[in-house]
Amino acid sequence: MTDSSPASAAPALAILLAGGTGTRAALGTPKQLALLGGKPVLRWSLDALAGHPSITSGVLVAHDDVVTAVGGLPDGWISAPPGRERQESVANALAGLADRRDDARVLVHDAARPGVSAAVIDRMLAALDTHDAAIPVLPVPDTLVEQRTELAGDVVDRNGLARVQTPQAFRLAILRRAHEDAQEGLATDGSATDDAQMVRRLGIDVAAVPGDARLHKLTYADDMAILTGLLGIDAMTRTAVGMGYDVHRLVPGKPLWIGGIEIAHSHGLEGHSDADVALHALTDAILGALADGDIGDHFPPSDPQWRGAASHRFLEFAARRVAERRGQIEHVDLTIIAEAPKIGPHRPAMRARIAEILAIPRERVSVKATTTERLGFTGRREGIAAQAAATLRLPEN
Ligand code: MG
Repeated sequence: MTDSSPASAAPALAILLAGGTGTRAALGTPKQLALLGGKPVLRWSLDALAGHPSITSGVLVAHDDVVTAVGGLPDGWISAPPGRERQESVANALAGLADRRDDARVLVHDAARPGVSAAVIDRMLAALDTHDAAIPVLPVPDTLVEQRTELAGDVVDRNGLARVQTPQAFRLAILRRAHEDAQEGLATDGSATDDAQMVRRLGIDVAAVPGDARLHKLTYADDMAILTGLLGIDAMTRTAVGMGYDVHRLVPGKPLWIGGIEIAHSHGLEGHSDADVALHALTDAILGALADGDIGDHFPPSDPQWRGAASHRFLEFAARRVAERRGQIEHVDLTIIAEAPKIGPHRPAMRARIAEILAIPRERVSVKATTTERLGFTGRREGIAAQAAATLRLPEN
């Protein structure tokens, strides 16, 4: 580069590619949003890049709904729409960086590699002190053979071969030129699967920098388990169980809300809110697992704004507290203790409604019911009680 200032003084930017639909991973959700240690795959890279002290801004290449689902953009970041292919996605990101200095350093990273560390970012940026482009590489430990049919072919000499990872590092001017040339059709051998190939077509040397096994790419469903091990995620999370218990009095002529649904009955539950005893117990169970007080702390009965409130708001609040801690609700189990009405016929609807409120699969919601054999206040139909347990997975911090 002709710039005379020290290379390390140039600003550093990031382009994070999260445009793919990730159908190969068969995870039932776009792979960039699959949860890894309770955090979307994409968020791992976004946090690592945006949190690195040298990287001042970046472009997230993703559809708007993905940007929303991942919790929005960090300060200084913008988004750009994904292209049909990787090359077009990077070009869209470059268009968003049109006003940046030519000597800026830019990292291009694939969100399907969540294990990007500060050390790797440092290595890639440092390589730009001596080169205009750099890629992280790892050796090929396995024997390689040719295969064009279902029969194995000749062994390929793996000496001199390397696996290429991301983030790849470039001077912004060089990356721009590579993409301009490609758009002008100067590159005739098809769409490049990475930017370093395009840069090499310009005749520019690309430094090979030691990569990192933790940059393992999420391609197949099994890769989630591999990444969990590589990133030490099991060691970074803990399981927390919380319990909740609630009672409300039955009174004639009131609507009866239990488990988020209204049940036709001669009596309803009395309380400050809609008195949904089941959702209150569940809310307390989740707050309990978070060690975050109880429902009365967050929604004091003395506060008139909660008079007649629909209790799904309390449960949604508890679920939000879990998400704010980057936790996951693994399971909830509810027991409703009532002599009447019969709960059994309403259990499927309650499960569905609770799963919807908590935004978790129905398989993670259990609703049970029991009577107390006509004993006690529930047996005398004076009230209804509910017990709940919530199991959460929380980051260790
Ligand atoms: Mg209550």
